[in-house]
Amino acid sequence: MIKVVKFGGSSLASAEQFAKVGKIIHADKERRYVVPSAPGKRNSKDTKVTDMLYACYDLVEKDEDFRVMLMKIKDRYDTIINGLNLKLSLEEEFKKISENFKKKAGVDYAASRGEYLNGIIMANYLGYEFVDAAEVIFFDEDGNFMPEKTDKVLSERLAKTERAVIPGFYGAKEDGTIKTFSRGGSDITGSIVSRAVRATCYENWTDVSGMLMADPRIVDNPEPIKKITYAELRELAFMGATVLHEESVQPVREKGIPLNIRNTNRPQDPGTMIVGNIDRENSDDRFITGIAGRKNFTIITLQKHDMHTSHTLRQALEVFERYHAPIEHIALGLDSFALVTSSAGLGESIYQLMGDLQKACHPDDINQQDDIALVAAVGRKMPFRPGTSGKLFKALGDAGVNIRTIAQGTDELSIIVGIDNKDYETAIRVLYDGFAG
Ligand code: ASP
Repeated sequence: MIKVVKFGGSSLASAEQFAKVGKIIHADKERRYVVPSAPGKRNSKDTKVTDMLYACYDLVEKDEDFRVMLMKIKDRYDTIINGLNLKLSLEEEFKKISENFKKKAGVDYAASRGEYLNGIIMANYLGYEFVDAAEVIFFDEDGNFMPEKTDKVLSERLAKTERAVIPGFYGAKEDGTIKTFSRGGSDITGSIVSRAVRATCYENWTDVSGMLMADPRIVDNPEPIKKITYAELRELAFMGATVLHEESVQPVREKGIPLNIRNTNRPQDPGTMIVGNIDRENSDDRFITGIAGRKNFTIITLQKHDMHTSHTLRQALEVFERYHAPIEHIALGLDSFALVTSSAGLGESIYQLMGDLQKACHPDDINQQDDIALVAAVGRKMPFRPGTSGKLFKALGDAGVNIRTIAQGTDELSIIVGIDNKDYETAIRVLYDGFAG
């Protein structure tokens, strides 16, 4: 049994946090591979080391003096090292970093040092081997992640290593240039490592006890989600509920490795378990797994008597494509269809787009509704309870929420309603109170 444990920045922001992490790792012998982020904020006014590194490299690029800033960063690490009573000096490492900065080693190199240095400290603290991600995680010349090569090299390397620390967030191109994933990318490294060692579980340790069924800023004390499928997670994440980096799901999902979101500050909490499959019909889970939503969409409705839907729809889609306007949903009627798009994505070009739709589709009527919010109720049990969508719509109606459009998500995992922005909070509360229990 092998567990891969990834710790986020707030879990590693100070010596105190490191000590909690050490306890967690030592509590379970199966926690053999550790993926750390860079030190995060210690309080709300603090700055993440990654952000300090970006700012520092900004100075490098402007040919300004960066040394004071770099020493501030070193200070963050030294405070951790001293707090843990480690016999470790990062003097040489910082010399090398300073030299490489002078040679303009690149912004990705700069940012990656946050994880790299934290990995060195973590390995020293735990007595685990340090495996530099630059030697085992690969990107091609264009900066695209190379999954096959990485999996091969990484799995071979870790097969020889009983316990190791692999810093998150970066890898290297074949010429050795450091390349990072996008922000929050240590989640991806954790997932890649889990896949390479065929982990029994990928534990992602953060500062919340898993996902909540609804946004706690809207619903008072929403229940945590104990178990959720990868498919449900995707629906919720798409609608704005984010706990993990989007790209971190694929590597573990493909191999059926469960992902457990845990809280470093409350290790006694079970957190949220994300799994490939749950017997949908027979499990005694809740009807709704989670509720999420986003504001600021536009619905464009086209009507045309005797419409050849596929033809007219294709013409409309071509117009949307020209404007790079993302389409979130399509609702089809007999002689009409409605397209839901993000208002922010379109901006002022909406007026031109409407004109082009007129020209391309010759509709009898075309109509635009702005200030629309989409709210999704996601649940794997949804298909097994006929009539529930009706109840759901009724509850919203009774609360005075006007439903502008309805869409069913893929695989009947979600019901999505389009409502006015102003009803967003009410809708979420109504769905939570009525259906989440
Ligand atoms: N340290 C990086 C960031 O702040 C990566 C991570 O934390 O996952 O984005």
